Amino acid sequence: PTLDSVIPFDNSYARLPPRLYAAVSATPVASPELLRVNAPLCEQLGIDADWLASDAGVAVLAGNAVPKGAASIATVYAGHQFGQFNPQLGDGRALLLGEVLDREGRRFDIQLKGSGRTPYSRSGDGRSPLGPVVREYLVSEAMHAMGVPSTRALAAVTTGEKVIRNRVEPGAILARVASSHIRIGTFQFFAAREDLEALRTLVDHVLARHYPEVADHENPALAMLEAVIARQAALVAHWQHLGFVHGVMNTDNMLLCGETVDYGPCAFIEGFQPDAVFSSIDYAGRYAYRNQPGIAHWNLARLAETLVPLIADDKERAVALARAAIETFPGLFSDAHAKGLAAKLGLSAIDEDDATLVEDLFDIMAQHRLDFTLTFRYLSGLPAPDAETRALEPLYRAPADLDDWRERWMARLDREKNDAAALRDAMRHRNPLFIPRNHLVQRAIDAAENGDHAPFNRFAARFVAPFSFDARDLELATPAAPEEAVQQTFC
Ligand code: AMP
Ligand code: MG
Ligand code: MG
Repeated sequence: PTLDSVIPFDNSYARLPPRLYAAVSATPVASPELLRVNAPLCEQLGIDADWLASDAGVAVLAGNAVPKGAASIATVYAGHQFGQFNPQLGDGRALLLGEVLDREGRRFDIQLKGSGRTPYSRSGDGRSPLGPVVREYLVSEAMHAMGVPSTRALAAVTTGEKVIRNRVEPGAILARVASSHIRIGTFQFFAAREDLEALRTLVDHVLARHYPEVADHENPALAMLEAVIARQAALVAHWQHLGFVHGVMNTDNMLLCGETVDYGPCAFIEGFQPDAVFSSIDYAGRYAYRNQPGIAHWNLARLAETLVPLIADDKERAVALARAAIETFPGLFSDAHAKGLAAKLGLSAIDEDDATLVEDLFDIMAQHRLDFTLTFRYLSGLPAPDAETRALEPLYRAPADLDDWRERWMARLDREKNDAAALRDAMRHRNPLFIPRNHLVQRAIDAAENGDHAPFNRFAARFVAPFSFDARDLELATPAAPEEAVQQTFC
């Protein structure tokens, strides 16, 4: 195929008023090489995966060639970073190559991350080291495979250039796919400038693109706010169910479309600790596991503030409506959380009597630092033990406290009238076995930095089937040995 037919762009953000973005070109790199192409995602987006993996495709992924129809813009935004408002941010090391419609007509951004400096780079170099690209590729695709709304990884290339962080690291570029990259911070940028026209434009765009079911609501800004709150409540509940710690829940890292974005310092909890923090820069534990729902709530309140002038002319009324919307978050979160936990535990619902049962489980997990993922997978195998149940025995030693708890839970399960094997299989579809454990991600990074892409490719293939047992890969389901455990993550 010729360059003009390979990526079927259909750009919409680039047609919005120019003050929402800056036209930028990628800065070419020395000698790009393909790391990986995501063939199923290419297929979904109508992009020829073989072409994308060819020299011509790699040139596009590296920013060395511009495909016909590309938008090539960096979007502007602001944001609260660790609670501090920064009125001027933007895509400092990324550009929106353009949008495509997938086979079902859904619209997706294709963004190059690490493509060079933009007007929003501030003192940054516009580049990304290889490590964060490997982490984002593995974790975002795993999240998607586990059913968590997430940005995706379309492809990754190395640049053949060095980037300087705490040490000199090889450079890389990730091609990221998202339903859109519009952030709470995007709204904050224009609210801080009292640019109501831009805010109205953004509301219309977000409604048409992500919430068409409420697009003709009489109060569009309020309808959008309510819709975003619902999606974020469900999203963060899903994180909690997997022991996922995002690590940098700044308002510029929360998308209006409700997908997880920015896999910088993220990590999965192994030995359970409610206050787990991994990010090397989160000194105060602001974004600890247990704080995630509260932080999401806080961030959504910042979104609500930007919308007040659009919700009603009478400010008092507008504030009251925005506040009422924000106050639904805790209820929506706990409903989603309870529903997901019920499914993880094989229950049709968590009723009032179950509250202590659930609490006790998490207490036991915390007290014994039980592996978050394996605890739920172990429980999944108990209703109808099979080959997997037996295979996990050497990996997971249940303490006596958990044995007692298990008896109570089994008694509760008896009230569910479920076929035992069906129950086991349903639980296994909620409780992954293979997740991108931090030490595995680190192992893939270390190898890739030494030019060995095999572990990255092996893990990438494994983690897209997180729920399927495979005895040959049990090593990838095993928690880190003490000397391999990752205490801190860097972005
Ligand atoms: P993050 O912490 O990844 O959400 O990034 C916060 C802001 O810093 C965003 O506006 C990024 O575009 C920008 N940024 C991060 N790293 C770089 C870099 N190496 N060069 C330029 N801008 C960057
Ligand atoms: Mg970010
Ligand atoms: Mg980041």
